This record gives sequence, structure tokens and C-alpha cells, in this order.
Amino acid sequence: MAGPILTPKALARHPKPTKTYTAAYDRPMSSGPASERGTALPRARGHVLVVDDHEALADNLREIILEEGSIDVTVRGSGEAALAFARNHGFDVAIVDVKLPDTSGVELLPRLREVVPDAEIILITGFATIDAAIAALRGGAFALLLKSFRPEELKSTVEQAMVKVALRRERDWLERRYRALVEVADVIVLGIDRRGEVVLANPKFTALTGVPPTTARGESVERWIGERDRAPFLAALDDVAARGQPRELEASLISDGASRVIRWHLSAEHEGLIFAIGVDVTERRALERRAANAEALSTMGTLALGLAHEIRNPLNAAVLQMHLLGKQVEREVASDTARASMRDRVQIVVGEIKRLGRLLTEFLELARPRGLARERVAIGEVIDAVIELHAAEASQRGVTAERLDQGVVPPVLGDREKLRQVFVNLFVNALDATASGGTVRITTEQLGDKVMVDMSDDGCGIAEADLSRLFDPFFTTKPGGTGLGLSIVRKILEQHGGALSVRSRVGEGTTVRVELPVAPPDSATMTPP
Ligand code: ADP
Repeated sequence: MAGPILTPKALARHPKPTKTYTAAYDRPMSSGPASERGTALPRARGHVLVVDDHEALADNLREIILEEGSIDVTVRGSGEAALAFARNHGFDVAIVDVKLPDTSGVELLPRLREVVPDAEIILITGFATIDAAIAALRGGAFALLLKSFRPEELKSTVEQAMVKVALRRERDWLERRYRALVEVADVIVLGIDRRGEVVLANPKFTALTGVPPTTARGESVERWIGERDRAPFLAALDDVAARGQPRELEASLISDGASRVIRWHLSAEHEGLIFAIGVDVTERRALERRAANAEALSTMGTLALGLAHEIRNPLNAAVLQMHLLGKQVEREVASDTARASMRDRVQIVVGEIKRLGRLLTEFLELARPRGLARERVAIGEVIDAVIELHAAEASQRGVTAERLDQGVVPPVLGDREKLRQVFVNLFVNALDATASGGTVRITTEQLGDKVMVDMSDDGCGIAEADLSRLFDPFFTTKPGGTGLGLSIVRKILEQHGGALSVRSRVGEGTTVRVELPVAPPDSATMTPP
């Protein structure tokens, strides 16, 4: 009889030789019917199904196999009975008589295979012809045994079949595990070949980019790396390929209209592939940036509060002086052209001083801690009022404002005036971005316990490089801008337990999404402290 066959793993666990197909694996030895595979309860004992209508012989077979001590045996007398058993319980190895009352073993073989694809089947026959042997092997039988076999021969064949089944299941199991690791991991996994083309992409990549793995395959990876980071990313890939050393770097991933900051680990090359494992650190980086901004703001805020009057008084005086100067010019300058030119200059200076005044007001707004009123606010009404307030400006610019309520939108709990300020800022930004003929669409909708307001414009959009800086105080691309609008908006929303997100595509437009919690049904109204 063949000695026990051991895998290294089994040896490690069982210093004394033990049969691998018994308790050596900590996962199902017997798999159930195909539909249940992978969820079957672990069964350490092997299971042999004997299909033979000859009772005495079947008993004989069972006795021999049971001598193993670690194998259960079930006997069925017909093809149908065997199939029924296989469907309900599965098996590891079947020993099937070629001659059965309702079918032949050769015909039964593929049907059993279908039910339990990872099991092995041994055919037995009383008279082996070459044809029978060929048919058995074609059908995928593990072995064909003549009924004159010796018990050792049977035991050894069963044992080898068991080992084969166990190894196959271990391989499948490992493969499933590895696949699950790649599929469910909350990190991006990309397999990249020497030409920089994507060979493998996992669902996290799809979740972030909206690109299914099949579409990504064969495409150059640089397509999804942000423009500024493309060259360093490709250089890092080259470096990994050349030196065989893993690398780490941060590079953005272009996702559906937005950009995510990804910390990449580039693995050393393995069988022609470099694995790029990416962790999305967008939120972490944003938090760090906000912490830094908040610190800067609070320092500057104290300073600004102290200086506010000092600055505002001279500014007011300057406006007054300019006003007087303007009058004097009208009165005393004789030449028309000289007067017009001086008037223009005076207006420019007044405009700049006003801008400084606005900057100061907005900055103080950001820096000064103030309590919130809490009342039930119908957000639609606030937005309607904002649109109405800017209707003249919008029509002057040739921009259409549309509003859409998706279903019934419940009230939120908040400070009406501050919320108005939020939508004024966002609406003015949208107007500024939109060319004549364009549209600003404001949609409100309840999603779970949140009210969502989407402010969408089909304007110029925001460059990818600017997206991460939008909320930085003083970041502006407008000649007269203060760059404080979005910082204020975000601060107000945070005070309301809400949030703000921006999606944009250059040349296509921008959607700013405001999220506010729905007011609890019995929420009381409070006034600010
Ligand atoms: P400001 O409007 O004073 O510039 P904000 O903080 O409100 O300050 O906006 C900062 C910058 O964000 C703007 O200068 C603009 O470049 C960009 N921005 C904001 N909203 C939009 C939008 N809807 N479309 C395009 N760019 C926008």
C-alpha cells in the first residue's frame, strides 16, 4: 500500500505522518453541491460515494475503505440515487461501477462531475476492454479499476484521488482568498506591465474612476494619473523596473470629473508586472490642510479683529476724500478729456477701497465666532429668495437660473440668514463661471436623513490643479475676488452639521453639492446666544 502523502503544511502541523486528506486542512474537505461550494461547513473527514447495485461487492468496497478510519462511505445502487445524494451532500471521491441498472458508469461520470466539479471519480468494471478504458479516461475518470483488484490497490487509488481533490480544493481556496483580497480590499490594485499598460484593475479602481476593469485593460496607466503627477509617476515605474526596488509616492488619480489624492506603493516587478497599490488619502490630506488653514485663520482672525477698526476708519476716510476729490475734479478741471480720465482714476481707487472693505467684512465673518439661530428652514424658499435677489444680474449676463425639487423636501434646522449667505456665495460663483446662454440649475432632494442641494452650472469648470485649493482662504482666480467665499460657506455648513463637495470638469461645468441634516420632527426653535 502506498504510504501517506504529505504536504509541507500538513507536516508542519502534524509532526507525525498523518493523511493529508483528513484533518490536515482547516477548510472543507468535502464540498457540497455546486451551488453551495465555498459556504459548506468544514468537514475534516473524507467522503467516498460508492455507486454499485451489486450489494455484496458494494459492502466489500465499503469495508475496505472504512479500514482507513478517516473516511465515510455512502453506497447507492443506481445512477439517479447517486446523483440525488451528490446534489444534497456532495462527495470527495466516487467509485462507480460501469454497469448500473439505470445507466452506465461512463454516462453517469459527466453528470456527477457537473454536480460536484472538484471531486474525483474512479470507475470499476468486471471486464476491461481498451475501449472502456479510453472512454473512462476521456470522460475524466481518475482511474479505471478491474473488479479483480486487491484491497491495497483500491485503498491506494482512493487515497491518491483524495490527495488530488484536497490539493485542488486548497488551490481553489487560496485562489478565491487571494481574489477576494484584491476584490474587496479598500485599496486600488493595478497590475501594470512593462509598457505601462494596465493588465489588472480591481473594483476599488472602478469605484473611484467609474472605469470598469475590462475597459481599463490595455490602456496606458498615465491616462488616470493627474497631469502634474504624470511624469513623476512614470519615472517611478521606470525606476522600479530598472532597479527592482519598490517605491512609494503620492500622485493624483483622475476620477469621474474630480481628482483624488492617492498614496501609491509600487511593488517590485513580479513576472513582468508591477503592482501599484493605492490608498485614497484625499480626505486625510484635506483634513491636514484644513487644520493648517484653521490655525492660520484663528491666528489671523485675532489679529484682524484687533485691526478691524484701525483699518476701517482710514478706509472710510479715504473713500470720503476720493468723493471730495471727484467733486473738485468736476468743478475745477476745464479740459473734458482730462476730467474724464481723472474721473476714471477716482472710480478705480474707490472700487479698490470698496474691495478692501469687502475683504475685511468677509474675513471678519470667517474669524469671528458667532452663535447660530436654530429654526426650521425650508431650504427651497431660501434658494428662491437668492435667485430672485440676483435675477436682474443673471438676466443681464444672459444666464438662466432653474430650480427643481425632486419630491418633497423636508425642512432643515438652521440659521436662515447664514444659509442664505451660503447660497448667495454659491450662486454668485456659478453666475461668475457661466457664459451668456448658460444655465445654473439648483436641485433639491431628500436622501436619507439629509437634504441635498446641487448647484450645477455649465460654465468654465475648475482646473484639476485648483480643485484642492478651492477652500484655501484667499484662493481666487477672479480679478476682484477675495477668495474667502467658499471658506465661509464651508464654515457655515460645518456649523450646521452639513458638508460641501465639488465636482467639476473644465469646459463642461461645476456642481457644488450642499448636504444638510433634515430637521428632527419635534425640533424646537432657538435664538442665537
Ligand atoms: P471668490 O469668489 O472671491 O474668488 P470663492 O472662495 O468663492 O472666492 O471661490 C474661489 C475660487 O473658486 C474662484 O475664484 C473660482 O476660481 C473657483 N470657483 C468657485 N465656484 C466656481 C464655479 N461654480 N465654477 C468655476 N469656478 C469656481
